Order: sequence, then C-alpha cells, then structure tokens
Amino acid sequence: MVLFKKKKFERSVSLKKDVVDSISSYCKIKHPNESILILKGKSKKGNILIDGLVIPPFSHTGPTFAGFPHSFLPFDMSYLGIVHSHPSGSAEPSLTDLHNFFGLVSLIVQFPYGDEDIFAWDSKGNPIKLDII
Ligand SMILES: [Zn+2]
Repeated sequence: MVLFKKKKFERSVSLKKDVVDSISSYCKIKHPNESILILKGKSKKGNILIDGLVIPPFSHTGPTFAGFPHSFLPFDMSYLGIVHSHPSGSAEPSLTDLHNFFGLVSLIVQFPYGDEDIFAWDSKGNPIKLDII
C-alpha cells in the first residue's frame, strides 16, 4: 500500500505585479462602487498565472453588486476567472459571489485595495494561495 502518493491537489495563484497595480487603480476609480474585471492568463497543473485583465462587456456595478451577463462573454480559454472589489472592506466571498462564480478562481479586493487586500477563492469559497510576482 502506497501512502502519501495521493497528495492533495493544491492550487495556487500567481499574479503579476502590474496586474495588481491595474486592479488596484481600477478599484480606486470605481470606489465606492464595486468594480469587476476578467482575469486572463494560463493554468497549468493547478497553478494559475494571471498576466492580464479585460474589462467585461455590459458590466453594471453598484455599491453592493458587480456583475455582467456571462452569456455575452466570448468563449476564451485564457479567461480564468473574475476579480471584483468589496468597498465595504471584507474580502470574504458572499453567497451571491459563489452563485455567480466564473472560471477557476475568484479574486476579491477589499478596501483600501492595496497589495495585501487581494484574496483568491475557489468555487466553494475556500481560500487559494496567492503570490504576487
Ligand atoms: Zn462580492
């Protein structure tokens, strides 16, 4: 019997520093409303690399909700998920966030939108390790 062979599949997210800066400034412009952006990049064996952002078409935002109709999105394998802001200051995903989960990862940025205010979550609301590179 082989123990330890089936190590739990661990996911991690790497985020380019310039992407972090773009997210941060976009959130600051939209504040106190929520902002939402599409994450672009590559995913390989559970490692998610985010190296670009796309402003979603037809997005509508308000102080408590940021969303866009997924059906309007072109099918694109480089779309890995979405990032949105929580102007209220908690990066915990809400029930609405989990219901509207898109892609592999969901990033949430809490006020005041600094490097340490970004958190990564999976579709079940579990935290994913996040590195800024
Ligand atoms: Zn949210």
